[in-house]
Amino acid sequence: MLNNLIFVLNCGSSSVKFAVLNPNNKKKYLSGLVECLFLSETYIKWKYLGIEHKKYIGSHLSHKDALNFIFDEFFLEKKDIYTNIIGIGHRVVHGGNKIKSSILIDDNTIQLIKNAIPFAPLHNPANLIGIKIAMEKLPIFSKKNVAVFDTSFYQNMPETSFLYAIPYSFYKKHHIRRYGAHGTSHYYVASEVAVILNKSFNSLNVITCHLGNGASVSAIRNGICVDTSMGLTPLEGLVMGTRSGDIDPSIIFFMHRILGISIDKIYTILTKESGLLGLSEISSDFRYFEKNYYSKKNAKLSVDIFCHRLSKYIASYICLMENRLDAIVFTGGIGENVPLIREITLSKLLLIGFKVDIQRNLIIKNGKYGLITQDESRPAFVIPTNEELAIAQETIKIIR
Ligand code: ADP
Repeated sequence: MLNNLIFVLNCGSSSVKFAVLNPNNKKKYLSGLVECLFLSETYIKWKYLGIEHKKYIGSHLSHKDALNFIFDEFFLEKKDIYTNIIGIGHRVVHGGNKIKSSILIDDNTIQLIKNAIPFAPLHNPANLIGIKIAMEKLPIFSKKNVAVFDTSFYQNMPETSFLYAIPYSFYKKHHIRRYGAHGTSHYYVASEVAVILNKSFNSLNVITCHLGNGASVSAIRNGICVDTSMGLTPLEGLVMGTRSGDIDPSIIFFMHRILGISIDKIYTILTKESGLLGLSEISSDFRYFEKNYYSKKNAKLSVDIFCHRLSKYIASYICLMENRLDAIVFTGGIGENVPLIREITLSKLLLIGFKVDIQRNLIIKNGKYGLITQDESRPAFVIPTNEELAIAQETIKIIR
C-alpha cells in the first residue's frame, strides 16, 4: 500500500542517489542514481515499481541540475507517490562535533552542517545543495526534512577512542578527533544481527565490518559504538579501494620534503591512487582480485594485505568487548559478496574462536544473509546493508 512513504536523498561528491520507501513494511517503490556529474555524459538509472530504466540527461551536469531533474521527473508526474510522502530523509556525511543524532532540518541544522564542511569538503556541500533544493521544490515538506548523519553513531565513543595523542589544544580549539564514517550502515547491520540473535540492541556486543570501496570496522559494546577505524576523515583505517588507510604520518613528510611532491598531490595519492589500486597497479574493483587471487601475484598480495589489516583491527577490538563477543558481521559490496575475504580474515582469528564454515560461506552472496561459521565457532554473519532503509526509519522516528 502506498502510504507513509519517505523520500531518501543521498548527494555524494559526484552522484545523487534517491529512493522512496515505506520504512514500516520496508518496501521500496522508487530508487535511482544519477552518476558521472560534471563529466561529458550524465545518465540517470531508476527502478520504479520493479521496472528498470536508464536515460541520458545531459553533459557536465551539476548536483543542482540532477536534483531539478529528479524532482521534476518523479514528483510532478508520479502523483501517487508524491501525495503519499510524509517526510524527506537526507544523508549527511559529517555532523561535526555538536550533532549526536538525526535531527529535523532548520536554519540551525544547516549552519551546523556548514560548520562541518572542513571535515568533509566534498560531501557536506553536496548534502546542503540536496537540502536546499528539496525544500524549494517540495515546500509542503519544509518542516519534515530530516538530516541523518554518518557520524552520529560515533558521538558516544569514549575519549580514549576518539582522541588522538597530539597536543590536546587541537581537540579543544579545532575539534580534531576521530569522527568515524559509515555509521548508518554499522548501526543498521548491528540492529539486524540483534534480531537474529534475539538480543536487545543495548545488550549487544558485536564487531561490524563495512567493506565497500570505502571500508571501516566498528566495535559496538552494549549497543554503543566504542571504537571505529575511520578517523577525522574516512582516510584512516583499513585498506580501501583507492584510499591508503593507516600509514605512518612521516610518509607524508618524506614524500613532500625528500621527493618534492606537493601537499595537494599527496592528498590525491593517498585518497585516489592508493589502497587496492595502488598496491595492484591495476584495479580497485574487488572482482579483479577475486578472479586473479590464485593466479596473479599482485592480486594475491593486495588481498592478503587487505585481510591482514582487517583481522588486526578485529582482533584489537576484542579487548573492548569486556566479557563477551556476540558476533562479527560482514557487510558492504565486498563483505556481502566475496567469500574469499571472509574466509582469509576469519582463518586468522582461529585463536580467538572463529572457524569459518566453507560451504556456508561460499553460498552467502548476492543479497543473501546468514551465518558463515561452524556451529561450535563464535558466530560470524553476513548481513546486507540497507542505508536507505535506515535513513527512512530514522526520518519517520524524528518527524513523529
Ligand atoms: P561503496 O558504496 O563504498 O561505493 P560498495 O559497497 O558498493 O561500495 O562496494 C564496492 C566494492 O564491492 C567494489 O570493490 C566491488 O568490486 C565489490 N563488489 C560488489 N559486488 C561484488 C561481487 N558480486 N563480487 C565481487 N566484488 C563485488
